[in-house]
Amino acid sequence: MHNIYNILSDIDILNDETKRMNCPNCGGYKTFTVSNSMGRLLWNCYKASCNVSGSKSVHLSINDIKRTLRKEEKKSQHFAMPEYIVPYKGQPEINRFMERFDLMGGLHHDVKDNRVVFPIVHDGITVDAIGRSLRNSLPKWKRYGNSGLPFTSGCGKIAVVVEDCVSAVIVGSDVYVGVAVLGTSLSDIHKRYLSQFSSAIVALDPDALPKATEMCNDLRSVVETVRVIRLSDDLKYKSPNDIEKLTAIGDELNGNSINT
Ligand SMILES: [Zn+2]
Repeated sequence: MHNIYNILSDIDILNDETKRMNCPNCGGYKTFTVSNSMGRLLWNCYKASCNVSGSKSVHLSINDIKRTLRKEEKKSQHFAMPEYIVPYKGQPEINRFMERFDLMGGLHHDVKDNRVVFPIVHDGITVDAIGRSLRNSLPKWKRYGNSGLPFTSGCGKIAVVVEDCVSAVIVGSDVYVGVAVLGTSLSDIHKRYLSQFSSAIVALDPDALPKATEMCNDLRSVVETVRVIRLSDDLKYKSPNDIEKLTAIGDELNGNSINT
Protein backbone atom coordinates (compact mmCIF):
# COMPACT_ATOMS: atom_id res chain seq x y z
CA MET A 1 0.00 0.00 0.00
CA HIS A 2 2.91 2.31 0.78
CA ASN A 3 3.99 1.79 -2.80
CA ILE A 4 0.58 2.94 -4.08
CA TYR A 5 0.75 6.21 -2.12
CA ASN A 6 4.21 6.86 -3.56
CA ILE A 7 2.94 6.29 -7.05
CA LEU A 8 -0.14 8.44 -6.47
CA SER A 9 1.92 11.33 -5.18
CA ASP A 10 3.94 11.26 -8.39
CA ILE A 11 0.87 11.53 -10.58
CA ASP A 12 0.04 15.03 -11.70
CA ILE A 13 -3.71 14.85 -11.99
CA LEU A 14 -6.02 17.82 -12.38
CA ASN A 15 -9.49 18.10 -11.00
CA ASP A 16 -12.07 16.30 -13.17
CA GLU A 17 -9.36 14.24 -14.82
CA THR A 18 -9.02 10.46 -14.99
CA LYS A 19 -5.82 8.62 -15.75
CA ARG A 20 -5.46 5.02 -16.74
CA MET A 21 -2.27 3.05 -16.27
CA ASN A 22 -0.79 -0.36 -15.60
CA CYS A 23 -1.73 -1.59 -12.16
CA PRO A 24 1.14 -1.19 -9.68
CA ASN A 25 -0.29 -4.06 -7.63
CA CYS A 26 -1.16 -6.83 -10.11
CA GLY A 27 0.62 -5.50 -13.17
CA GLY A 28 -2.63 -5.58 -15.21
CA TYR A 29 -2.32 -3.71 -18.48
CA LYS A 30 -4.08 -0.32 -18.09
CA THR A 31 -6.47 -1.75 -15.53
CA PHE A 32 -5.64 0.87 -12.91
CA THR A 33 -7.50 4.20 -12.95
CA VAL A 34 -6.98 7.27 -10.83
CA SER A 35 -9.38 10.20 -10.92
CA ASN A 36 -9.57 13.52 -9.17
CA SER A 37 -13.05 14.68 -8.27
CA MET A 38 -12.94 18.12 -6.60
CA GLY A 39 -9.92 17.23 -4.55
CA ARG A 40 -10.90 13.64 -3.82
CA LEU A 41 -8.46 11.21 -5.36
CA LEU A 42 -10.08 7.87 -6.23
CA TRP A 43 -8.22 4.83 -7.48
CA ASN A 44 -9.25 1.38 -8.50
CA CYS A 45 -8.10 -1.65 -10.49
CA TYR A 46 -10.60 -3.28 -12.82
CA LYS A 47 -9.13 -6.76 -12.51
CA ALA A 48 -11.47 -8.92 -10.46
CA SER A 49 -8.56 -10.75 -8.89
CA CYS A 50 -6.95 -7.50 -7.69
CA ASN A 51 -8.32 -5.68 -4.69
CA VAL A 52 -6.57 -2.36 -5.03
CA SER A 53 -8.89 0.59 -4.54
CA GLY A 54 -9.18 3.58 -2.29
CA SER A 55 -9.61 7.28 -1.95
CA LYS A 56 -7.86 10.17 -0.30
CA SER A 57 -8.23 13.95 -0.16
CA VAL A 58 -5.69 15.98 -2.04
CA HIS A 59 -4.99 19.65 -2.08
CA LEU A 60 -6.69 21.58 -4.89
CA SER A 61 -4.61 24.55 -5.91
CA ILE A 62 -6.27 27.89 -6.64
CA ASN A 63 -5.25 27.45 -10.26
CA ASP A 64 -6.88 24.07 -10.31
CA ILE A 65 -10.12 25.52 -8.98
CA LYS A 66 -10.00 28.43 -11.41
CA ARG A 67 -9.29 26.11 -14.31
CA THR A 68 -12.27 23.93 -13.37
CA LEU A 69 -14.59 26.93 -13.22
CA ARG A 70 -13.31 28.21 -16.55
CA LYS A 71 -13.73 24.79 -18.10
CA GLU A 72 -17.34 24.63 -16.90
CA GLU A 73 -18.03 28.11 -18.16
CA LYS A 74 -16.60 27.26 -21.55
CA LYS A 75 -18.56 24.04 -21.67
CA SER A 76 -21.80 25.91 -21.16
CA GLN A 77 -20.95 28.90 -23.35
CA HIS A 78 -19.68 26.96 -26.32
CA PHE A 79 -22.99 26.35 -28.01
CA ALA A 80 -24.03 27.17 -31.53
CA MET A 81 -27.60 26.66 -32.64
CA PRO A 82 -27.58 23.89 -35.30
CA GLU A 83 -28.22 25.25 -38.80
CA TYR A 84 -31.50 23.32 -39.09
CA ILE A 85 -32.93 25.42 -36.26
CA VAL A 86 -34.28 28.70 -37.58
CA PRO A 87 -35.84 31.66 -35.77
CA TYR A 88 -39.61 32.01 -35.73
CA LYS A 89 -40.89 33.87 -38.71
CA GLY A 90 -44.52 32.91 -38.94
CA GLN A 91 -44.15 29.17 -39.58
CA PRO A 92 -47.70 27.72 -39.39
CA GLU A 93 -46.65 24.84 -37.09
CA ILE A 94 -45.14 27.28 -34.62
CA ASN A 95 -48.13 29.59 -34.96
CA ARG A 96 -50.47 26.78 -34.01
CA PHE A 97 -48.32 25.89 -30.98
CA MET A 98 -48.13 29.51 -29.84
CA GLU A 99 -51.87 29.97 -30.19
CA ARG A 100 -52.56 26.76 -28.28
CA PHE A 101 -50.62 27.95 -25.23
CA ASP A 102 -50.99 31.67 -25.77
CA LEU A 103 -47.24 32.24 -26.13
CA MET A 104 -45.46 35.30 -27.45
CA GLY A 105 -42.30 35.18 -29.60
CA GLY A 106 -38.75 34.07 -28.87
CA LEU A 107 -39.21 30.57 -30.23
CA HIS A 108 -37.26 28.78 -32.94
CA HIS A 109 -38.16 25.95 -35.30
CA ASP A 110 -36.22 22.72 -35.79
CA VAL A 111 -37.12 22.15 -39.43
CA LYS A 112 -35.36 18.78 -39.60
CA ASP A 113 -37.23 17.15 -36.75
CA ASN A 114 -40.27 19.47 -36.63
CA ARG A 115 -39.84 20.78 -33.11
CA VAL A 116 -40.61 24.07 -31.45
CA VAL A 117 -37.31 25.15 -29.93
CA PHE A 118 -36.85 27.11 -26.72
CA PRO A 119 -33.37 28.71 -26.56
CA ILE A 120 -31.75 28.54 -23.12
CA VAL A 121 -30.33 31.98 -22.45
CA HIS A 122 -28.17 32.65 -19.40
CA ASP A 123 -26.57 36.05 -18.80
CA GLY A 124 -27.59 37.13 -22.27
CA ILE A 125 -25.85 34.22 -23.99
CA THR A 126 -27.62 31.31 -25.67
CA VAL A 127 -25.99 28.36 -23.95
CA ASP A 128 -28.29 25.55 -25.04
CA ALA A 129 -31.71 24.83 -26.50
CA ILE A 130 -34.59 22.45 -25.95
CA GLY A 131 -37.07 21.37 -28.61
CA ARG A 132 -40.54 19.92 -28.14
CA SER A 133 -41.77 17.61 -30.83
CA LEU A 134 -44.68 18.89 -32.91
CA ARG A 135 -45.52 15.48 -34.33
CA ASN A 136 -45.43 13.30 -31.19
CA SER A 137 -42.03 11.81 -31.96
CA LEU A 138 -39.75 10.68 -29.17
CA PRO A 139 -38.17 12.09 -27.20
CA LYS A 140 -40.93 14.59 -26.65
CA TRP A 141 -38.33 17.07 -25.38
CA LYS A 142 -34.90 17.08 -27.01
CA ARG A 143 -31.86 18.92 -25.69
CA TYR A 144 -29.45 20.22 -28.32
CA GLY A 145 -26.48 21.17 -26.14
CA ASN A 146 -24.90 19.72 -23.02
CA SER A 147 -24.97 22.64 -20.60
CA GLY A 148 -27.31 20.80 -18.24
CA LEU A 149 -28.79 24.20 -17.42
CA PRO A 150 -32.52 24.62 -16.94
CA PHE A 151 -34.64 26.59 -19.39
CA THR A 152 -35.67 29.82 -17.70
CA SER A 153 -38.09 32.64 -18.43
CA GLY A 154 -38.80 35.89 -16.60
CA CYS A 155 -36.73 38.22 -14.47
CA GLY A 156 -38.33 38.11 -11.02
CA LYS A 157 -36.85 37.36 -7.62
CA ILE A 158 -38.82 34.17 -6.95
CA ALA A 159 -37.98 30.95 -8.78
CA VAL A 160 -40.90 28.77 -9.78
CA VAL A 161 -39.70 25.26 -10.55
CA VAL A 162 -41.84 23.65 -13.22
CA GLU A 163 -41.57 20.55 -15.39
CA ASP A 164 -41.56 21.94 -18.90
CA CYS A 165 -40.63 25.00 -20.95
CA VAL A 166 -44.20 26.02 -21.76
CA SER A 167 -45.07 26.25 -18.05
CA ALA A 168 -41.86 28.21 -17.45
CA VAL A 169 -42.77 30.75 -20.13
CA ILE A 170 -46.30 31.08 -18.78
CA VAL A 171 -45.19 31.67 -15.21
CA GLY A 172 -42.19 33.90 -16.03
CA SER A 173 -42.72 37.61 -15.30
CA ASP A 174 -41.11 40.49 -13.43
CA VAL A 175 -42.09 38.71 -10.20
CA TYR A 176 -41.19 35.12 -11.11
CA VAL A 177 -38.53 33.24 -12.99
CA GLY A 178 -40.01 30.06 -14.45
CA VAL A 179 -37.35 27.35 -14.19
CA ALA A 180 -38.05 24.25 -16.28
CA VAL A 181 -36.16 21.21 -15.07
CA LEU A 182 -37.67 18.86 -17.70
CA GLY A 183 -38.49 16.16 -15.24
CA THR A 184 -39.26 15.76 -11.58
CA SER A 185 -35.79 15.68 -10.07
CA LEU A 186 -33.02 18.22 -9.58
CA SER A 187 -29.49 17.83 -10.87
CA ASP A 188 -26.48 19.48 -9.21
CA ILE A 189 -26.45 22.04 -12.05
CA HIS A 190 -30.13 22.87 -11.38
CA LYS A 191 -29.37 23.34 -7.70
CA ARG A 192 -26.34 25.51 -8.40
CA TYR A 193 -28.50 27.69 -10.66
CA LEU A 194 -31.35 27.86 -8.12
CA SER A 195 -29.00 28.72 -5.26
CA GLN A 196 -28.98 32.35 -6.42
CA PHE A 197 -32.61 32.70 -5.31
CA SER A 198 -33.71 33.16 -1.72
CA SER A 199 -37.26 31.97 -2.43
CA ALA A 200 -38.58 29.21 -4.64
CA ILE A 201 -41.94 27.63 -5.32
CA VAL A 202 -42.12 24.05 -6.56
CA ALA A 203 -45.01 23.75 -9.01
CA LEU A 204 -44.84 20.31 -10.61
CA ASP A 205 -47.74 18.73 -12.45
CA PRO A 206 -50.50 17.36 -10.13
CA ASP A 207 -49.51 13.72 -10.71
CA ALA A 208 -46.04 14.43 -9.29
CA LEU A 209 -46.93 15.60 -5.79
CA PRO A 210 -44.75 13.08 -3.90
CA LYS A 211 -41.84 14.07 -6.17
CA ALA A 212 -42.58 17.73 -5.47
CA THR A 213 -42.24 17.18 -1.74
CA GLU A 214 -38.95 15.37 -2.30
CA MET A 215 -37.70 18.16 -4.55
CA CYS A 216 -38.73 20.74 -1.98
CA ASN A 217 -36.60 19.05 0.70
CA ASP A 218 -33.70 18.80 -1.73
CA LEU A 219 -33.97 22.49 -2.61
CA ARG A 220 -33.95 23.59 1.02
CA SER A 221 -30.21 22.88 1.12
CA VAL A 222 -29.59 25.74 -1.33
CA VAL A 223 -32.64 28.04 -1.17
CA GLU A 224 -33.76 29.68 2.07
CA THR A 225 -37.54 29.60 1.61
CA VAL A 226 -39.11 26.82 -0.42
CA ARG A 227 -42.82 26.22 -0.86
CA VAL A 228 -44.78 23.56 -2.71
CA ILE A 229 -47.92 24.44 -4.56
CA ARG A 230 -50.66 21.83 -5.02
CA LEU A 231 -51.80 22.38 -8.57
CA SER A 232 -55.16 21.21 -9.87
CA ASP A 233 -53.86 21.06 -13.44
CA ASP A 234 -50.56 21.47 -15.31
CA LEU A 235 -49.50 25.07 -14.92
CA LYS A 236 -49.46 25.55 -18.70
CA TYR A 237 -53.25 25.29 -18.81
CA LYS A 238 -53.49 28.30 -16.50
CA SER A 239 -56.34 27.10 -14.30
CA PRO A 240 -57.57 30.29 -12.53
CA ASN A 241 -57.49 28.38 -9.25
CA ASP A 242 -53.80 27.57 -9.65
CA ILE A 243 -52.83 31.05 -10.77
CA GLU A 244 -54.60 32.44 -7.71
CA LYS A 245 -52.72 30.05 -5.39
CA LEU A 246 -49.43 30.92 -7.03
CA THR A 247 -50.08 34.65 -6.73
CA ALA A 248 -50.98 34.29 -3.05
CA ILE A 249 -47.74 32.44 -2.25
CA GLY A 250 -45.79 34.90 -4.41
CA ASP A 251 -47.28 37.89 -2.58
CA GLU A 252 -46.48 36.30 0.75
CA LEU A 253 -42.88 35.56 -0.23
CA ASN A 254 -42.43 39.02 -1.69
CA GLY A 255 -43.83 40.56 1.49
CA ASN A 256 -41.33 38.56 3.53
CA SER A 257 -38.41 39.66 1.41
CA ILE A 258 -39.43 43.30 1.71
CA ASN A 259 -39.78 43.12 5.50
CA THR A 260 -36.44 41.47 6.11
ZN1 LIG B 1 -4.56 -4.58 -10.18
